[in-house]
Amino acid sequence: MICSNPSATYDVVVIGGGPAGATAATFLQRQGHRCVVLENSTFPRYHVGESLIPHTYGTLDRLGLLPKLRSSHFPVKHSVRFVSPSGKQTDPFYFSETISGEAAQTWQVERSEFDELCLQHARDNGVEVRMQTRANSVLFDENGRATGVLAKTQGEESEEIHCRVVIDASGRATAIGSQLELKTEVAGLNKASIWGYYRGGKRRPGIDAGETTIFMIPLRGWFWYIPLPDDVVSVGVVASPEYLFAEDRDFEKAFGREVARCGPLQEMLAGATFEGRIRGLRRLAYRNRQIAGDGWVMVGDAAAFLDPIYSSGLFLAMASAELAAGCIHDALRCDDVSAEKLGAFAGPLWEGIEVIRRLIHAFYDPDFSFHKFVERFPEQRAALIDCLVGDVVEKDMSGFLGALAEMTPPPGPV
Ligand SMILES: Cc1cc2nc3c(=O)[nH]c(=O)nc-3n(C[C@H](O)[C@H](O)[C@H](O)COP(=O)(O)OP(=O)(O)OC[C@H]3O[C@@H](n4cnc5c(N)ncnc54)[C@H](O)[C@@H]3O)c2cc1C
Repeated sequence: MICSNPSATYDVVVIGGGPAGATAATFLQRQGHRCVVLENSTFPRYHVGESLIPHTYGTLDRLGLLPKLRSSHFPVKHSVRFVSPSGKQTDPFYFSETISGEAAQTWQVERSEFDELCLQHARDNGVEVRMQTRANSVLFDENGRATGVLAKTQGEESEEIHCRVVIDASGRATAIGSQLELKTEVAGLNKASIWGYYRGGKRRPGIDAGETTIFMIPLRGWFWYIPLPDDVVSVGVVASPEYLFAEDRDFEKAFGREVARCGPLQEMLAGATFEGRIRGLRRLAYRNRQIAGDGWVMVGDAAAFLDPIYSSGLFLAMASAELAAGCIHDALRCDDVSAEKLGAFAGPLWEGIEVIRRLIHAFYDPDFSFHKFVERFPEQRAALIDCLVGDVVEKDMSGFLGALAEMTPPPGPV
């Protein structure tokens, strides 16, 4: 048993006000714990990662965010479709094949707006939010228990903020992972990405208008095509850095070359105009060797990021935050902030993430295709859709994984 910091002014300090941080803080504050969120930037701020998956519905519902999403201008997403390099399309995977009612749909969100909505919701639930405040480091006592953070608000002196539990929700900045050198590569997953935005790209008719379309490129790369509000579409390419940057190191040139090579995508973009600027990341995947310690927990991208292919990032960010909030609540109630108590959510979560990791590897195996998989194992189509919607945490997926292993060798352990 590790008792919490007796000189704490807050129960919980959350580093980062993205969806994971806002979610964790909202749940904890509602349970009577005093939370402060430290957010480095000013909102609204740009962020990539616009496509939600349906299984986020439960967390959005428990947060009380559904009415805001229903009345938003975010396109409604009912399905995902895969298009081969030659233009051959799978039938859309409609989420309603396995989910009934409203939960079978989700939204394509403009992140500046969605993240602000989540953070404002945290404030509305009583969370204190300090913007333009950076957590420069986490403070630890002589036994390695986190006791607070050293924070700096723009234009002010650095300040020690003491608390009983620190949540790292700093996204790819991985505040604690970097400080404690816990961050590591994910074996076998080494992709890069470049993306940008177009106005006036084509949309499909009816309920397909808000679908995510995945355009495959040869050599196991792919484009996402995500319709956003105001006739804007998010378009990004993901492939190995060796392929993507072999001819051009430059993001603009590599992106332009790949868009020009992808005929089916070109058709959707005919008449569209490029807006804003090209962005990219040369390495997407990473994880931390440990996601909880005495007095601290990591949630969302601060813990790990694998690959954007199944749009699971926001779901995992918010689901991990909700699960972690449950463990933190228990830990604070019995004043035991040990790694074991705080990290009790990690096992079931990682089992779910492992299913997604297996499917990511399958996707990048040149001998695997969803079409062939569903043809050979029609009884696994529903389980495949469960993966595409994110319904993998605390669920027995052994039959599905067994079938998958017959078509593509499982990757080595992480
Ligand atoms: C190329 C790409 C495409 C993606 N596509 C999708 C998609 O289609 N769908 C999907 O669901 N996900 C997608 N993702 C993943 C998604 O963007 C992330 O999983 C999601 O943003 C994680 O949320 P978070 O709250 O953990 O982190 P973030 O949203 O990154 O929030 C972290 C916050 O912490 C703040 N911060 C950082 N350091 C500090 C500090 N020291 N002090 C104070 N504040 C700090 C940052 O300013 C930021 O606001 C994609 C990711 C990539 C890279």
